Parts: sequence; C-alpha cells; structure tokens
Amino acid sequence: MSIELTPDPYVADLAARTATFVRTVVAPEEQRYAGVATSGGEELRQRLQQAARDAGVFAPHVAKEYGGHGLGMRDRAVVFEEAGWSLLGPLALNIAAPDEGNMHLLEAVATEDQKERYLRPLAEGAVRSCFAMTEPAPGAGSDPAALSTTATPTPGGWLVNGRKWFITGADGAAYTICMARTSGRPGDRGGATMFLIDMDAPGLRIVRHIDTLDEGFFGGHCELDFEDVFVGEESVLGEVDRGFEYAQVRLAPARLTHCMRWLGIARHAQEIAVARATERELFGSRLGDLGMVQAMIADSEIDLSASRLLIWQACAELDDGRSAAQSSSIAKTFVAEAVGRVVDRALQVCGALGVSGDTQLSRYHREVRPFRIYDGPSETHRWAIAKRRLRQSSAATPEKRTVHA
Ligand SMILES: Cc1cc2nc3c(=O)[nH]c(=O)nc-3n(C[C@H](O)[C@H](O)[C@H](O)COP(=O)(O)OP(=O)(O)OC[C@H]3O[C@@H](n4cnc5c(N)ncnc54)[C@H](O)[C@@H]3O)c2cc1C
Repeated sequence: MSIELTPDPYVADLAARTATFVRTVVAPEEQRYAGVATSGGEELRQRLQQAARDAGVFAPHVAKEYGGHGLGMRDRAVVFEEAGWSLLGPLALNIAAPDEGNMHLLEAVATEDQKERYLRPLAEGAVRSCFAMTEPAPGAGSDPAALSTTATPTPGGWLVNGRKWFITGADGAAYTICMARTSGRPGDRGGATMFLIDMDAPGLRIVRHIDTLDEGFFGGHCELDFEDVFVGEESVLGEVDRGFEYAQVRLAPARLTHCMRWLGIARHAQEIAVARATERELFGSRLGDLGMVQAMIADSEIDLSASRLLIWQACAELDDGRSAAQSSSIAKTFVAEAVGRVVDRALQVCGALGVSGDTQLSRYHREVRPFRIYDGPSETHRWAIAKRRLRQSSAATPEKRTVHA
C-alpha cells in the first residue's frame, strides 16, 4: 500500500476554498459566539450551511447523489482539517459529529427507503441526528458488550426500554440511531441491533442536558430515557443482532474524522502561539527567540506532522478496503493526546492572554480534552493495540519471529 502525500487537484482546490471560507465567513461567527454554536441556535446553523453551499464546499464526504462531493477517507482528511480550523467550520460544512458519522453508516448499511427517509434530509442539512450507544453504569461505555437497553419483539415491531447518556446533539435532532440488545444479556459480545428512532416517538424523553467541560457541540450532550418506545420492523438498520458489526463500520472512520477536525483546531492554536511569539517582546528579545519557547513551538510542529501522517495512513487503509482497526486506534490515541499538548503549549506561550477569552485558546482547551475519552478512551485503545500486537506475535511461527537486541 502506498500513501499519496499530494492531494489531486480537485481535492486541493476544495481544501483551499474551504480554508478561505472558514477563515473569512465562519471564524467571525466563532468569535461572536465564543465557539458555542448552540448559542446561535438553528438560525446560525442554517445560515452557515447556506453560506457553505454558496461557496461550493458543503458536504464534502457524502455521495454525489445525495448532494455531496463524494470524497474518500484520504481526501476527506485534507478538507476536514481545513474545516476544523474553526470550531464552527464542521457545522457549516455539515461534517460535524455525530451527523457525519451517521451519514457514513447510513450510506453503508441503510435500505433505499431508509436512505430516502433518513440519509437524504441529513445530507442536505434539513435535519440533525444523534447516535445513542453509551449508558450510565453498569451499561455500555468503554465496553460496548455491557449494553443493557433492550428491544423486545411486539406485534409489528419492537419495544425499546433503557437509558442512554452523553448523547451528543440529541436536543433538536430529528432521529437517533439507537443500539439496543435484541438477544443475550449484558456482557455477551453479540446480540445488539441498531434502530432508527424518531426523537418525537412516544416514550422517548430527553431527561436532561449534561453539564460538561466542552460546550461546542450543537444540541449538547443529553441523557435519554426510552420507556416502551415502539419501533416498526422498517426501523431496523441492517440486520437484527448485527449491531456491533455495524458499529465498527461507523467507529473507525468516525474516530478518524474527529482526528481530522481536531487537528485543524490544533493547527489554529499553533498559529496563534507563533503570532504571539513573533510579536511579544520581553527580556530584551522576542518571545520566539527564547529557547524554551522555541522548544514548545518545535514540539507542537512535530505533534501536528505526526498526527497528520497517522491519520493519512489509517485513511489510506480504509480506502483500500482494509479494516484499519489497528492503525485507526493508533491514530486516535496519538492525535487525541497530541492536540491536547499543542493547545496546552499554545496557551502557555501566550501567558495570561492564553487563558483569557481574548483568544479562543481557553475554549479550545476545554473542547479538545474530552476527545481522550469519546470514540474510545486512550486506555481502551492502548489495551486493544497491545492485544492485537501480542496476538500477531503468538500467531507467527518461531522462525518468523524477529527478536530485536
Ligand atoms: C463529550 C462526549 C460526547 C459523547 N458523545 C457520545 C454520543 O454521541 N453517543 C454515545 O453513545 N456516546 C457518547 N459519549 C460517550 C463515550 O463514548 C464514552 O464516554 C466512552 O465510550 C467511555 O465510556 P464511559 O464514559 O462509560 O467510561 P468507562 O467505560 O466507565 O471507562 C472509564 C475509564 O476507564 C479506563 N479504561 C477503559 N478501558 C480500559 C482498559 N481496557 N484498560 C484500562 N483502563 C481502561 C479509561 O481511563 C476510561 O476513561 C460521549 C462522551 C463524551 C465525553
């Protein structure tokens, strides 16, 4: 497998136009709303998305038949990084989580009828959606097998019962893709099914908005209660009991697109730090002439470049039809921690200015921290990376094993 480091002209042009759009149209709105898109409400979301359509940069990831540019993963990486330069960029391009991951899943798994009813309006930006997997303890979290929400057969469909939390974007979403157990019991590795459930279905209730460190996701993070929620057979996404398999279809690309977007914010943070280091004078020299500041700037350049290449490698594997399980875990773990380091260093270089609201750095600091937890905590990924590596070693014949001195 080879990784193409130079995007083709179509993608390079789209990325350049996205960069201009995000810097000139979106960034002023980020300033105005201090990065909290929900404060601007539906009016802001629709206005930004219309501006993105007018600029020809809307929905780069979706197939052309649904109005998008149909980019593969490797090409998305270039454009999403440019969109991620502002906290509101992904919302404007309709590539924000969780909608972007849901579109990917629906394109891969939904029936034609489901695509018309759920994918098309989502791809067009007419509605929003959410993805409901995580449950309060002792339910599903890092270990999805603990899934406790149930769907039991009833004439014409299923009755869903359970509680979900940290469901991003639930407030104002038109529907959720909900994981529920259709066989087995909590702890079993199979038996999950995905359901498309309208958010106004009787018995489905938003219990509360969870107060969190980050505030940048449109529609917040919500706790949901499902009490005898009826869903018809036509609402099953894919096949019954194959939900965990489909979750993998969504998870590897979705964790990489998160990496791409947060890499954009990290780059923006580094630009702010470099500008400050160039302008600020102290101890008779420029800040940027001081060795310890140079070290911070250099370490951040290394983090940014390494992040980008790890993302591209995993994307190239996905485009190649491979699972990218190991490479996407490696990229997710590294990038989630690297963007935190880059933003933290930028804040340090800027001194008191960095923690003020006069730059967006303190907002970025709050927004990137939870990424070390969602899409699999760093520890879960490290555990999985090590297990795969150890399996690889025990599967190899003794002659094939390499011992490094
Ligand atoms: C901002 C945010 C948005 C989210 N959005 C959504 C959403 O839209 N939909 C949704 O379904 N979920 C969402 N989540 C939930 C997220 O997927 C879970 O938080 C995540 O899977 C971890 O589960 P948990 O919080 O239950 O932590 P737990 O499973 O309780 O894990 C706690 C800690 O245990 C440690 N740990 C985990 N595995 C291992 C291991 N193998 N070895 C050693 N230590 C380990 C880690 O440090 C981990 O942080 C969101 C979470 C956050 C913070």
